[in-house]
Amino acid sequence: SSPAADRPKRVFLAKPRGYCAGVDRAVVTVEKALETYGAPVYVRKEIVHNKYVVETLQDRGAIFVDETDEVPEGALVVFSAHGVSPAVHEEAAERNLRTIDATCPLVTKVHQEAKRFARDDYDILLIGHEGHEEVEGTAGEAPEHVQLVDTAEDVAKVEVRDPSKVIWLSQTTLSVDETMIRVEQLKQRFPDLQAPPSDDICYATQNRQVAVKAMAPECDLVIVVGSQNSSNSKRLVEVALQHGAQASYLIDYAKEINEEWLDGVRTVGVTSGASVPDILVHEVLAYLAERGWGEVEEVTTANEKIAFQLPRELRKDLV
Ligand code: SF4
Repeated sequence: SSPAADRPKRVFLAKPRGYCAGVDRAVVTVEKALETYGAPVYVRKEIVHNKYVVETLQDRGAIFVDETDEVPEGALVVFSAHGVSPAVHEEAAERNLRTIDATCPLVTKVHQEAKRFARDDYDILLIGHEGHEEVEGTAGEAPEHVQLVDTAEDVAKVEVRDPSKVIWLSQTTLSVDETMIRVEQLKQRFPDLQAPPSDDICYATQNRQVAVKAMAPECDLVIVVGSQNSSNSKRLVEVALQHGAQASYLIDYAKEINEEWLDGVRTVGVTSGASVPDILVHEVLAYLAERGWGEVEEVTTANEKIAFQLPRELRKDLV
C-alpha cells in the first residue's frame, strides 16, 4: 500500500450509531418522570449504561440505587432499560413503591420467550455475559429452567434433562458472530437445539455492528464512544478489530483520546454504542478536526425508524 503520508486524513462516521429506541425511551422516561412528579425520582441500576447520561440525570434529581431496598417506602422508582426479574417487582410491591418500568420492549420480548419455553418445560440455554443486569433479569423469569452460557467452557459444562427439548436464547447486545459460534458449539453437544422464534440480538446491536464492519477494513484506528460497562459498545471495539481496523479504543469522552493513538494514522473510524448521546460523538469529531481530520464521510448501512411508546404507567399521567 502507499506510504501513509500520501493518503488524506479522513474520518469515517458510522451510521447507524448511538441511541437506539430502547435507550431513548428509557432516558425520556426518567426526564418526564422528573418533570411530572418532581425530584427525587429513584432509578434502580444505571438507567442505561452510559456515564454521561447517568451524571446528567443525577444533576436533575434522579437518584440511582443498586437495589429496591435502598428506595424509601412509597417512593417512585424507575426500572432500567435492561429489565428486572419478577422477584424485583415483588420486592417493590412489598415496599409499596410506585414503579415505572423502562425495560426495553425488545428485552421484554426475550423475557416472554423465557417464560413461554419454561412453561413448556424446556431447558433454556441463555447466551450472555455473566453478571450483566439483562441476563440476571431474563434468567430470573425462570430460574429453574435457565442456564447461562457465556464462554466456550460453559458450553462443555451445561447439563440438560432432555436433549430433545433444549432452546437457546440470548442477551440483546452480543456480538452476532460470536453468538453464532457459541450456538454451533452448543449444537455439537445438542443436535436438536432449537433457536429463538425471532432474533434476540436486537436490531440496534446488529445494525451498529454491520456499520463498523463496513468501515473497519479501511480504518487505521476506530474510536468507539461508550462506557466500559456497556456490552454493545464493547462489542463494537471487538468487531472493528476482527474486521481489519489496526487499532480500536472505547472512550467515554473526547478528552480520553491519547494523542499517540493518532501516530501514523490517516483514516479514523468513529462510532458509538446504543446508550451514547450524539453530543459525545460531536466532541470527538471536534477533537479530530482540530488535529487535521476535518473531512468526515458518513458510512451508512441502515436507516433506523423504530421508536417505542413511553411506559403506560407514565403515559397516563402526561398531559
Ligand atoms: Fe433495546 Fe436493543 Fe437498545 Fe437494548 S440495545 S435498549 S435491547 S433496542
